[in-house]
Amino acid sequence: TSQAAPVARKLRVATTSLAGCFGCHMSILDIDERILKLVELVEFDRSPLTDIKTCGPCDLGIIEGGLCNAENVHVLREFRKNCKVLLALGACAINGGLPAQRNHLDLRDILEEVYQTGADMSHGGIPNDPELPLPLNKVHPIHEVVKVDYFLPGCPPPADAIWKLLTDLLAGRTPNIGHGLLHYD
Ligand code: SF4
Repeated sequence: TSQAAPVARKLRVATTSLAGCFGCHMSILDIDERILKLVELVEFDRSPLTDIKTCGPCDLGIIEGGLCNAENVHVLREFRKNCKVLLALGACAINGGLPAQRNHLDLRDILEEVYQTGADMSHGGIPNDPELPLPLNKVHPIHEVVKVDYFLPGCPPPADAIWKLLTDLLAGRTPNIGHGLLHYD
C-alpha cells in the first residue's frame, strides 16, 4: 500500500503592533492572493489577525512599532521569550520611527500641552487611570531591549519584501531581500 507523504508541520507565527500605526500589518495583507499560500504554510498565534491575546511558543515573531510605554516592553519580552526568531518589521520597530519624534521634547511638557494648556481643553486633564500603561520618557527601538534576529526597513516595508523574507524563512533559508525590494521610506 502506498503511504501518504508526511505533512510538513505548519510554522507558528505571532505578530503584534507596539508603538506603530498598523501600516506594516496592512503591508503584510498587501501580499494579496499569496495570503492563501501563506495560510497553507503557517498558523497564526497572537496577532491582530487572530485576536489571540497572549503569545505561545512560536517559530517566528513579527514586531511592528517601537516601545513608547511599559506594556510595549512587556509584550516585546513575551514575544522574545516565546519566538525562536524575531523580526523587526518597519521603521518604527527598527529606529522608533514617527513616534520617536517626541524624543527631543520633555514628556511632561508634551502631556501638559496636550491635556492641560493646549488649544483643545476637552480632555479633562492628563489621564491617570491605573489601567493605562505608563509612558516611557523616550520612544525606543526594539533592539535596545531584546535581541532581534532580522530587520526589514521601510515605512512600511513593501509587501513583496515581506513575502520574500517570509518565504525564505519558511524554506529554512537565510533571508536575502535584494536591493530592488529594500526601501528606507
Ligand atoms: Fe506605520 Fe510606518 Fe511605523 Fe510601519 S513603519 S508602523 S507603516 S509608521
